[in-house]
Amino acid sequence: MALQIEAYKKIKSGLDETHTTLIAVSKTKPAEDIQALYELGQRDFGENYVQELVEKEGALPKDIRWHFIGHLQSNKVKYIASFVHLIHGVDSFSLLKEINKQGLKNNRVIDCLLQVHIAKEETKFGFNESELNELKSLPELKNVHIAGMMGMASFSDDKDLVRNEFKYLKTLFDAFGNLTILSMGMSGDYTIALEEGSNMVRIGSLLFGERNYNK
Ligand SMILES: *Cc1c(COP(=O)(O)O)cnc(C)c1O
Repeated sequence: MALQIEAYKKIKSGLDETHTTLIAVSKTKPAEDIQALYELGQRDFGENYVQELVEKEGALPKDIRWHFIGHLQSNKVKYIASFVHLIHGVDSFSLLKEINKQGLKNNRVIDCLLQVHIAKEETKFGFNESELNELKSLPELKNVHIAGMMGMASFSDDKDLVRNEFKYLKTLFDAFGNLTILSMGMSGDYTIALEEGSNMVRIGSLLFGERNYNK
């Protein structure tokens, strides 16, 4: 499926009205598709794979804000540390320390979101509630800024389940203190996420069409 220009315009204008940031999730999609949305004014794009992100960053306009939304391995932080706008998937203190180290090397403060495990599925990464509490008492890292939280709800048709998971994340977000960004909601569940207090959504397939991983 190809780029969905009309869907993009509709979603974007709806989100603008509520001051919600739209991250266009472009993983596996070609640079031309990103360029096409860029020309319509889109600046925030999300990628899941380090190598793919590095290649696209090199090929596309410099004022794109690149969001890393995948699972980030510590040994790969160095490849994106000079330019990444926001890292959504910080799920361990050791990763946070590595981002801090690379931030220092690049003489910048890197914005990060704490990924919180809210879904029923075992496979989704993230901190749990007690780990978040431990984080608060750990020494401050000068080259990272914890700007907010990110979570992924269960992949389920049960809307009440999804809603309750988002509600739970919002509660943790409010309790943590000093956070501004709540990244929750994807193509299938972003309207529920918005109702539950999200201010940043990560949407891929509704904008770029379905992904095909076996090309
Ligand atoms: C792929 C991905 C998305 C976008 O998913 P869609 O269902 O295509 O909108 C959002 N967030 C994360 C973390 C992803 O990996």
